Amino acid sequence: MTSEIAVIGAGIAGLAAAANLLQADPACRIVIFEQEPSTGGRLKSHNIGSHHGIVELGAGRFDPDDHHRLAALVNRYRLATKPFDYALSPLQNGLHDQGRQILTGLCQALETLYCDMPAQKRHAVTFESAAKALIGPPSFGLLVDMCGYDTFAHPDLSFEDGFGLLRHHPETNALFSGSKRHWSALRDGFSALIRMLEADLAQQAEIRTGHDLVEIAPSAHGKGYSLVFQTPSGARVHEVGKLVLALPVAAMRQVKGLNISVSIRERIGSVPLIKAYFAYPHRWWKDMQVEGRCFTTASMYRKVYFPEDADYLMIYCDGQSAEQLRHSFLNNPHLHRDFVSVMRDALPFATRAESVPAPVDHGHAFWPHGISFWRSGLNLIPSGCWRIGDNAVICSDLFTRRPGWIEGALESAEYVADALLSRNETTPPIIAHNDSSQQMTRTWPS
Ligand SMILES: Cc1cc2nc3c(=O)[nH]c(=O)nc-3n(C[C@H](O)[C@H](O)[C@H](O)COP(=O)(O)OP(=O)(O)OC[C@H]3O[C@@H](n4cnc5c(N)ncnc54)[C@H](O)[C@@H]3O)c2cc1C
Repeated sequence: MTSEIAVIGAGIAGLAAAANLLQADPACRIVIFEQEPSTGGRLKSHNIGSHHGIVELGAGRFDPDDHHRLAALVNRYRLATKPFDYALSPLQNGLHDQGRQILTGLCQALETLYCDMPAQKRHAVTFESAAKALIGPPSFGLLVDMCGYDTFAHPDLSFEDGFGLLRHHPETNALFSGSKRHWSALRDGFSALIRMLEADLAQQAEIRTGHDLVEIAPSAHGKGYSLVFQTPSGARVHEVGKLVLALPVAAMRQVKGLNISVSIRERIGSVPLIKAYFAYPHRWWKDMQVEGRCFTTASMYRKVYFPEDADYLMIYCDGQSAEQLRHSFLNNPHLHRDFVSVMRDALPFATRAESVPAPVDHGHAFWPHGISFWRSGLNLIPSGCWRIGDNAVICSDLFTRRPGWIEGALESAEYVADALLSRNETTPPIIAHNDSSQQMTRTWPS
């Protein structure tokens, strides 16, 4: 009864962890439990319709030169890629070409500060306080508005992570000298990768959707765990020997009986993310010199992407603007009219309302725990994955050098088999890695 391994969460981390466990021990029995009706988690490609294409409502891009595990999977499954090279256009409040120049200057100043600051201190101070002290509050406000990330002003974001956000994201990394990375997207969407992983697992692991883990207790049968799920047909109990928790760490607070160290748990922050789209009868922005650009506005439409190869506009926001946009998508009867009005004020084209046709479709996905991060002041970060007992681990990008990225989820999944199948009973119950000689160069978030 308790020889099974349960994986909770059928996002990319859970599916990859299951695959790695099976590779390490082909005889192990794995059941993957997922609360949603479908798998994929924060990888969610939405097909708008034959000529509109696929919009990514979750993760959307990767850097093949840096995200090696993901690039290897993409190659293995022969998934077609396409460039994701949107030029950042901080075009607002009358600032045109100057906007980019100002931003580049601010980023260079921050880079010098980053290099001069000892690593410990970079984790201890917030991005906001360090940046404000260097460039002053007005320039900091400009930086936040023009880069399109509210999270820069999050009271818990460390300078290390804030700088990582600026330095390693496709929208902002080109503001740094010497940056020549090319970003890619999957032509058929990241959900195609999930389908491939699932197909590989199909013969060896069972996936049960509609299973929301609500409680964990020690098994009455001895070693192992008793898991309580809410399902559409009522509560179900499942006994397992070993456990992989592959759900967003910030969401684990909702699971009763899960005894993870308060001192670490309380140091995890998270911010919501939203992606939304308006699909049009035709690409009305064609020939307006805006294709392939990502405009940032000081409004709830923080980043607006103008594709070259699809008939939809995509909007991407974090933090407070994500909450506002969600509210607007759910409740505002004049949603598109208001969007066009903000765009008209912020952008130089579309001077007449008639130049923008009514959308044929719109939609959004809101992620309450879009990305998680370690609050500033923390220098004790578990490494790889977090072992919370001899027979249970937490698998998440949060414990890697790529928190907030698919690459981090894949990296964490690599540690799971070792942590769970190892016969070494002397391993301490929680791996809290604090080796200052192994400096974490982290890139976060998305
Ligand atoms: C809007 C957005 C944009 C992003 N952009 C990028 C990007 O461009 N590039 C990139 O590399 N990364 C990006 N990311 C981050 C990337 O999506 C994540 O790092 C990655 O998907 C995390 O995978 P995961 O499997 O750990 O978590 P998830 O994908 O969140 O999977 C966890 C699964 O657990 C399930 N679950 C939760 N609670 C329970 C429960 N109680 N019981 C059972 N199941 C449960 C969830 O339904 C989910 O399916 C983005 C994220 C978001 C939200």
